[in-house]
Amino acid sequence: MTKILVINSGSSSIKYKLFAMPAGIEISGGVIERIGEKGSAVPDHHAGLKIILEKHNSVSAVGHRVVHGAEKFQRPVLIDQAVIREIKKCSSIAPLHNPANLMGILACKKLLPGVPQVAVFDTAFHHTLADYAYTYGLPYEYYKKYGIRKYGFHGTSHEYVAMEAARILRRPLEKLKIITCHLGNGCSITAVHYGKSVDTSMGFTPLEGLVMGTRCGDIDPALVGYIMRLKKINSEALDDLMNKASGLKGISGISNDMRILEKKAAAGDSRARLAIDIFAYRIKKYIGAYTAVMGGCDVVVFTAGIGEHQAMVRKRACAGIFSCMKKTPKVLVIPTNEELMIARQTNKVIKNNH
Ligand code: ADP
Repeated sequence: MTKILVINSGSSSIKYKLFAMPAGIEISGGVIERIGEKGSAVPDHHAGLKIILEKHNSVSAVGHRVVHGAEKFQRPVLIDQAVIREIKKCSSIAPLHNPANLMGILACKKLLPGVPQVAVFDTAFHHTLADYAYTYGLPYEYYKKYGIRKYGFHGTSHEYVAMEAARILRRPLEKLKIITCHLGNGCSITAVHYGKSVDTSMGFTPLEGLVMGTRCGDIDPALVGYIMRLKKINSEALDDLMNKASGLKGISGISNDMRILEKKAAAGDSRARLAIDIFAYRIKKYIGAYTAVMGGCDVVVFTAGIGEHQAMVRKRACAGIFSCMKKTPKVLVIPTNEELMIARQTNKVIKNNH
């Protein structure tokens, strides 16, 4: 049996799951939280991983979630020094995520010498976007010189649920036009045309696209300068505003938790209702746009916390849009399993490297 440990190393937490492959059976899992925080018993990622590995020391390989692979990484790779250097390079465009992912990789390398480590990138599934889909309307040298373009995220989740949709419908993925809606705290939507991502709502960073728990999603870009001047704040403060104080939380003034907002809206809170209306309306617009992009849509898939559990959001996002289509798409709710997908991809990479 091949045991694969999947690690999702964040800035102050490490989530993990252990799988028996190729069956994909989950053996165990958990999370180490509050790493490096004041009063925490876990000072750093090395100490956090040590706790995990004390329980699970006989692993065949480790699969790491890495958020940003830029244009360099279009598929999962076996980690060596050159890969570590490249992931570090990508940190300049993903400062919130890649350094934390890297800490997990470096700690695992030390604690499990000789055990193969594989990096699975959130951006990789979207490497099939055409240049006209990923290039922004900025001067072209901003792309050539600085790599400024749409990359897209949540790729592992979009790919997993698209594959699951094809399996459930017993139809080849290569013959389906699928729109996958990942609606968690972070939210993104992808057009999966015959198995390939052709457009996705998140962009250079995960801020673009849908309205999210605390992120604003698409706004008029001129607002960036306008708000900075108006509030006399610097770019870091504006980043914080758009990433942490906006979205469902910012609009409602109550919470980023859709469960709470639904209750409040039902009790008559108008801002909670507005937050939900905006959230669902934006999804509807993207479903319409991606149907146009693919010249039709066979399936819409909803996944992640809100997508899986909030029927009312699904209903509102789909309301009225299918009546103008020749064939009504199937709507599926499919629980995502990014960890299993990472375990599968890790298993494939280590088999191919033997
Ligand atoms: P993350 O992006 O942090 O993984 P999740 O996928 O857990 O987020 O989604 C969190 C969102 O899903 C919240 O808005 C929450 O209200 C909503 N949600 C609704 N029902 C549930 C549920 N049963 N379990 C978890 N989240 C739920």
